[in-house]
Amino acid sequence: MFDVDRYLSVLRSEKLKRAVNIQNEIIQSSRDFLRQQGFVEILPVIISPITDPLTDYRIRGEIECYGFTYQITKSMIFHKQISLHSLARIFSFSPNIRIEPSERQESGKHLVEFVQLDLEVRDASREDVVKLGEELLIFVLEHIKADCREDLEFFKRDLKIPKAPFPSLSHEEALQAFGKDYEAPLSRRLEEPLWLLDFPMDEREFYDREYPDRAGILKDMDLIYPEGYGEALSGGEREFEPEKIKKRIELKGIDLRSYDIYLKFAEKGLFPSAGFGIGVERLTRYICGLERIEETRLFAKLPGILGL
Ligand code: ASP
Ligand code: MG
Repeated sequence: MFDVDRYLSVLRSEKLKRAVNIQNEIIQSSRDFLRQQGFVEILPVIISPITDPLTDYRIRGEIECYGFTYQITKSMIFHKQISLHSLARIFSFSPNIRIEPSERQESGKHLVEFVQLDLEVRDASREDVVKLGEELLIFVLEHIKADCREDLEFFKRDLKIPKAPFPSLSHEEALQAFGKDYEAPLSRRLEEPLWLLDFPMDEREFYDREYPDRAGILKDMDLIYPEGYGEALSGGEREFEPEKIKKRIELKGIDLRSYDIYLKFAEKGLFPSAGFGIGVERLTRYICGLERIEETRLFAKLPGILGL
C-alpha cells in the first residue's frame, strides 16, 4: 500500500531538504570541475535497443514501441563508447534503472532508480581515470566543505578531505583479507577512500578490458568509501576490438544477436577508452553521513517496495 502521509512527512522534513541542497552542490561542482577539464555534457539516454547487460539482474526492463523492443537504461556504457566518435571527453548525469532483488532493500545503498555521473575519455588508460576520479572527488568535497557548512553541521558531519593518490588494493588481496563478501568489512575499516583494482573476468561485465598479458584479469576498478559506506564507483579501460568483444560476450553465455547493433559499431571501429560511473545518491549519502540511501533524494524507490 502507498502511504501518502508518510511520504508527505518525508518530503517536508528538514533532513531531506538539507540532503537535496548538498546534492545540488555535488551536481554543480562536479559539472564545473569536468567542464574545466574539457569535458562536454551529453544528455542522458533512457531507452535503447542496447544497454549494460549487468548479468546480475535477472529481470530486464523493456518497453515496446512501434513494434521494437527498447531496453530501459541500466547504464550508458555503450553510448559512452560510441559518443567518442563525436567528442573526446564526455559525461552525463544518467538515470539508471536496475531491478535489484528485493532483499537489497535492507542494504541502505541500493535504489531501483538512481543517477550516476557517467564519464568516458578517448585514448585514456585506467590510471588516467583513477587520477581524474581522485581530483573530481577532492574538488567536490572541498567545495561542499567550504560552501555547505550549515548543512554539514546539521548532519554533524566532519568531512575529511582525502589526499591523492588514494591507497589501493587488488581484488585478489581484498578476497584474501576479507573473503567473498569483502566490501562491507573493508569499507568499515577504511578512513579514506580506497581503489580496488584488477577484477577477475567472471566478476565483471564483458566491456572491461582484459590485461593483454594477464589472462582473465581486467584493467578496471571500484572506489570504496570509508566508514562502511561501501562502493562509490565502478569503471575501467574498455575492450574496443570487435573480436575480443565477441569472445567476451560469448564467454558470458550471452547471445551475440542481442548485441548485434553494438557489434556493428565495434566493427566500424571503437576508440580505446576508459571511464567510470559514480552514483550521485551514494555520494550524497557519504557526504551527509546518512544511514540510508532513500534519505538522499525525492521519490526514492527501494527494491521490492512501491515508490512514487
Ligand atoms: N557501466 C558501469 C556501471 O554502471 C560504469 C562504468 O564502467 O563506466 O557500473
Ligand atoms: Mg559497480
